[in-house]
Amino acid sequence: YTGKDSNQLIKEEVSRKIVKDYKAPPIIIKESSSVYDAICTLFLEDVGTLFVVNGKGHLAGVVSRKDLLRAALGKQNLEDMPVSIIMTRMPNIITCTPEDSLLDAAKKLIDYQIDSLPVVRLAQESGKTAYEVMGRVTKTTITRGFVELGNEINV
Ligand code: ADP
Repeated sequence: YTGKDSNQLIKEEVSRKIVKDYKAPPIIIKESSSVYDAICTLFLEDVGTLFVVNGKGHLAGVVSRKDLLRAALGKQNLEDMPVSIIMTRMPNIITCTPEDSLLDAAKKLIDYQIDSLPVVRLAQESGKTAYEVMGRVTKTTITRGFVELGNEINV
């Protein structure tokens, strides 16, 4: 191969990595959950970010380790504090779809300086646009894709 051809091949290999094939299951809690319950779920599920859903099961927000640490620094009772008051909420959530490339998802993690993206599908909620959560893409997901890519490319 000439230089250009092998660059083309590498680009194709990278573009073939799709979110759908790498996504992990989402860890989801309800909007009405307490901050205390969110912290327990974080430890039990061994994740860094939880996705919060409303009564219809649609994406309402995201709560991260630092969101929970910040809440825990306060004097309030964590069992009485709903997670909905500390989460980052819609429409400010950065998402990806199952069809997106892993590269585009990785770019979002870098551009927005976040650790994880909910993988979503469009849904309807009383005529308005809403998101159903299908999975999660995290820095671990991207690292796994990167390692596979390195193992696939044979010189
Ligand atoms: P941590 O704060 O635990 O290091 P992140 O860097 O992922 O984790 O989160 C930084 C901030 O961005 C938090 O306030 C969190 O709620 C928010 N956040 C995390 N993921 C997303 C996302 N996909 N879209 C929008 N905001 C997010």
